[in-house]
Amino acid sequence: MARYTGPACKLCRREGMKLFLKGERCFKDKCAFDRRPFPPGQHGRMRNKPPIGYAAQLREKEKVKRIYGVLEKQFRKYYEMASRKKGVTGELLLQFLERRLDNVVYRLGFATSRRQARQLVNHGHILVDGRKVDIPSYLVKEGQVIEVKEKSRKIPSIEESIKTAKGRGIPEWLELKPEEFKGVVKSLPKRADITLDINEQLIIELYSK
Ligand code: SF4
Repeated sequence: MARYTGPACKLCRREGMKLFLKGERCFKDKCAFDRRPFPPGQHGRMRNKPPIGYAAQLREKEKVKRIYGVLEKQFRKYYEMASRKKGVTGELLLQFLERRLDNVVYRLGFATSRRQARQLVNHGHILVDGRKVDIPSYLVKEGQVIEVKEKSRKIPSIEESIKTAKGRGIPEWLELKPEEFKGVVKSLPKRADITLDINEQLIIELYSK
């Protein structure tokens, strides 16, 4: 599946906030955004006015796509699915993104970034209800059990990540059983569970033009 493979830190600098795309590095003083908190490029330092109107809507959409590592086609599909469902479209859009298997693997702390989580899923290290699922966009359901395959539990990056998972915070809608390398989807995520600085209303306004 297509995905962005360019430098991750440039994306944070472009969006004007830390998107936490590189795992542990994001919490260290090596973070490129902490060092250079202005857009990349020759004139980056001069571009310091916050966007308004259409530009603000577009930037918000790009930011959310970058946080979850989703390209336009798939993102638009989530919007369409959300707008067909009963409820608040913006909240449903975020709920679909949160329910992606790569995001859940990251949120449970099996990986330190969504990129790393996507790789774990792609390489077949993750089971859902005991069956291998290697599709990062798979949407988890309430009650499902997500676990690291027994043979993969010795992978150093997974072991390390699980050790520090609780310190990074597990969302309310998930339950982690670190000693079993397992997590349970207790309920579907609600808006309050998504603590990222996102104004989903701007995205809805953009798509509903
Ligand atoms: Fe963003 Fe992490 Fe790079 Fe910092 S280290 S700029 S938070 S991806």
